[in-house]
Amino acid sequence: MESTLRRTWAEIDLDALAHNYHKLRERIGADVKFLGVVKADAYGHGSVQVSHLLQELGADYLAVSSIDEAVELRLNDVTMPILILGHTPKEQVSRLIKYHITQAVSCEAKALEYSEEAVKCGGILKIHIKVDTGMSRLGYLCDGDHFETGVAGICHGCSLPGLDAEGIFTHFAVSDEPGEDCKKYTEHQFDLFMRVIEEVEKRLGRKFALRHCANTGAVARYPETFLDMVRPGLLLYGYGEFADELGLLPVMTLKTTVSTIKIYPAGTAISYGGIFKTEHTTRIGVVPYGYADGFFRCLSNRCALMTKEGPAPQRGKICMDMCMIDLTGKMGVDVGSEVEVFGKQNSINDLAALAGTIPYELTCAVSKRVPRIYI
Ligand code: PLP
Repeated sequence: MESTLRRTWAEIDLDALAHNYHKLRERIGADVKFLGVVKADAYGHGSVQVSHLLQELGADYLAVSSIDEAVELRLNDVTMPILILGHTPKEQVSRLIKYHITQAVSCEAKALEYSEEAVKCGGILKIHIKVDTGMSRLGYLCDGDHFETGVAGICHGCSLPGLDAEGIFTHFAVSDEPGEDCKKYTEHQFDLFMRVIEEVEKRLGRKFALRHCANTGAVARYPETFLDMVRPGLLLYGYGEFADELGLLPVMTLKTTVSTIKIYPAGTAISYGGIFKTEHTTRIGVVPYGYADGFFRCLSNRCALMTKEGPAPQRGKICMDMCMIDLTGKMGVDVGSEVEVFGKQNSINDLAALAGTIPYELTCAVSKRVPRIYI
């Protein structure tokens, strides 16, 4: 297979993705719409392939972070609604309209720019209003003293010519975190969001078609926040602590193969810096997966890769293009044998925790030179 000559690849299990979609659909019920978050190349899984499947399965909306990501989907026959969560430069408004892309609007200045440009090109730009209820990132600030100015700004934005405010949304900061304080914070965000919607709808004299806020944490833990549409990313791909509870399956399995094996005597330093020294005769395999592929160097000498004979400890510093694993005693694992970095057998959650990060970072980090193989 030409694309896997280096013998390292990310297997993307589309049946697992479909399984996760159906499970989540069951969870949210028939009356709630489903937006799949496919930004950052669908968290590294391939946004075109993931979007095609979601479209086929009947998902209602997709979300990306930028116009480039949205247009790529349009040019690849994705016809379903797409929301851009980030900002788009005003010069691109005519393209947003041309490609029927929905734009998030996060403040009055952006609403004015988008309106002016839409009027100039004689089109209507569909928008979703973003409310900052406590994430402190994008959105009309509406908490505390900002409630009145926030609501007034949103009403103004929704009334501007050239804009069609189809939806309103907010983003939770700690819905996936444990503890009573995080629960209270999420409840506060949700309560504020509902108060903003109520006031805006009252003043505008009309309802938003799509009110949405539930990301992965909220889909898993706060059913009362589902509203008209949910907006999960991570859960769809089957990672994170809630995935097991909900019976979801990991979609990506990162596989590589043993390219060479050597036997070293006791006292041999392995890889840069010599941080690992063999204590006895040691059978070391080299696998072509390094930090330029998306492995984290901070995991050097601290993790294990999965072989058909169980976990093989990773030894020494992880290099740019390869790393070494300890195959002592695993005589069934030979040159050419498959090794799993993470996925179905080697939990990405555990590996992420070991690296002091979240699974999102591991799948997003899998670089371009690692071919995605769809099964
Ligand atoms: N909604 C917004 C606005 C986001 O930025 C993200 C991801 O960062 C999501 C939804 C999906 O989040 P998650 O992958 O945690 O479900």
